[in-house]
Amino acid sequence: MNTIIQKYGGTSVATKESRKQVVAKIVEKHNENYNVVVVVSAIGRKGNPYSTDSLIDLINKNFISSRELDMILSCGEIISAVVLANALSEEGYKSIVYTGYQAGIKTTKNFGKAEIIKIEPDKINNSLNKGYIVIVAGFQGATEDGEITTLGRGGSDITAIALGKALNSKLVEIYSDVDGIMTADPNIVPDARSLESMGYSEVYQLAEDGAKVIHPKAVELAQKYNIPIKIKNTFSNKQGTTIESTETLILNGKKDFKNEKIITAITYKKGRVQVIIRIDEESDDTEKLMEQLTFHNISIDLINFFIDKKVFTINEEDLNIVEKILVKGDYNYELIKNCCKLSAIGYKMQGVPGVMGRIVKSLSRENIRILQTSDSHSTIWCLIKEKDTNKALTALHKEFKLYE
Ligand code: ASP
Ligand code: MG
Repeated sequence: MNTIIQKYGGTSVATKESRKQVVAKIVEKHNENYNVVVVVSAIGRKGNPYSTDSLIDLINKNFISSRELDMILSCGEIISAVVLANALSEEGYKSIVYTGYQAGIKTTKNFGKAEIIKIEPDKINNSLNKGYIVIVAGFQGATEDGEITTLGRGGSDITAIALGKALNSKLVEIYSDVDGIMTADPNIVPDARSLESMGYSEVYQLAEDGAKVIHPKAVELAQKYNIPIKIKNTFSNKQGTTIESTETLILNGKKDFKNEKIITAITYKKGRVQVIIRIDEESDDTEKLMEQLTFHNISIDLINFFIDKKVFTINEEDLNIVEKILVKGDYNYELIKNCCKLSAIGYKMQGVPGVMGRIVKSLSRENIRILQTSDSHSTIWCLIKEKDTNKALTALHKEFKLYE
């Protein structure tokens, strides 16, 4: 019998009504004779009493160890799993709930951002063989010696893909309250539309650059083990977005290479700060600066180094510490705050002339200044001011005809 993994996000399990929709989706697959393994997130979002954010708000973070913090955080998903099992049972379906620990999910010891090392799925397999629907609490596991760990915010997606691999599943479905992966944030660009298919690398970049569709690590894992993913809406019967390798999608006729657009989707990340450091060639101590940033665990991005100046961006949360380093090292620096990193992603852009030209043209038409750019084989990044974000997204969406 084929095994399918279905992961439901917080809004999908938030109310009695929404859980009814979830039950319907689970039962549909169960009745098609699939082994169904369900992974759940904690119930609701900030404000809901059992959401991850609400659990965090229950405690004073200055007076708790990361070990105990993980214990309380893991409870959100456990509650959600039991509540869903209850809803299934009301409809006459038998299910069994496992915490990450009980499901055999073994992780490293770093509380709060543990990595899954292996999964021992014997219990899950036994339950599936007995005809149970299995519900696993997402976002958690345990160390070899039974210490409860969590996988980092959004980590239930990782649980789902890792279980997909361990159970040799042919498909992992990720359910939320949107129709799939969108060409742009629909709250900003009203004519954004959902995409039928997308390659792993494109989705990874989109997730990494701010689109909250799926955890980037989950995509990475799926790509590594070639596990197909579907991003679907709990509240509609739309097809959703299929994620596989671009090559597979083309070979299976799910992607029409010739007619694909040069840009597939656009996204953005606010809260960036541009750092410009002017360097005296005689006493260039960039190496020392890099050492300091590494020592303080500061990740830098959009890195452009020239002989007489070094330019990069940081997260605004790291601003205080970076400024301290710059002052202490007596650097001649400038900080441009409230920046936004725009990303235009498209696997077909490699070697195609004129893409950057179109981006520059459409942004300058809107009087948007580009502070910095960078590119890879499938992405062009532009740093702009935060205030220009909506205008810029709308302009790029239109320029590359992502609406059609
Ligand atoms: N509940 C966790 C979070 O809010 C994990 C997840 O939803 O994936 O980060
Ligand atoms: Mg999520």
